[in-house]
Amino acid sequence: MKDPLKHALGHSIFASRLDTLLLQDTAVVVAFHRVKTGRPDDGLTVSVPVFERYCQFFHDHFNVVRLSDLVTRVERRLPLDRHLAITFDDGYLDNFENAAPVLRKYSLAAAFFVVTRWIGTDVVPWWDRDETVPHPWMRWEQVRTLHRSGFEIGAHTRTHVDLGSVDGGAAETEIAGSRADLERELGAGVDLFAYPYGGRNNMSEANREAIKRAGFRCCCSCFGGTVGANTDPFRLARVPINMSFPSPEGFGFEVVLGRTLQSA
Ligand SMILES: [Zn+2]
Repeated sequence: MKDPLKHALGHSIFASRLDTLLLQDTAVVVAFHRVKTGRPDDGLTVSVPVFERYCQFFHDHFNVVRLSDLVTRVERRLPLDRHLAITFDDGYLDNFENAAPVLRKYSLAAAFFVVTRWIGTDVVPWWDRDETVPHPWMRWEQVRTLHRSGFEIGAHTRTHVDLGSVDGGAAETEIAGSRADLERELGAGVDLFAYPYGGRNNMSEANREAIKRAGFRCCCSCFGGTVGANTDPFRLARVPINMSFPSPEGFGFEVVLGRTLQSA
């Protein structure tokens, strides 16, 4: 289906409030990575104006809640109708500089999953090595500022390991260690976890158990899908958002049709 048609159908569905029927007892967790000025040309980035359009769309058509509140609803089997939680992965500085002001403008909650041993460093991950512009990390003071201003901070391991291939003590250190790092730096409890890469094969069952043992109350993936009445909080689906969706309405169209699941 052509993108303009997806956009038009999404617009019709949400303008006519048909979404209230189609998203009965369905919640959505969205995942962003970078929000940049200029024209993004990679799968991890949205532009600031596009991000603002998503925020307006979420504000107008969903009950945007803190991720921890959504997890509580899942745990207690409370109605999920059109609840939506906004999340960010990795801890990029643009989250603090570009995304947080827009979130505040629309009074939207969000959770930031950070790679604890990369905060405040100039580590360049393998996926950013060919980028022409730098993508720096936040510093701890900025993570603390987000936390103090009411945003949630979650763990995303210490060094962005693939928990589908690392196991045993090394995995425990990455999982429990990232929680310890965050609690020390924030001076507050941390119990939200999103696993790096987020694909079906990037998490083992042994490591999912290690995440529970480490005191987390959820484990977020990132290969699409929605959250329903029988969702296990340790298998919490997220929809990654990038420029591949034609528009927020096009994203909404894919969500109501249950077509955000990725095969890989
Ligand atoms: Zn990540």
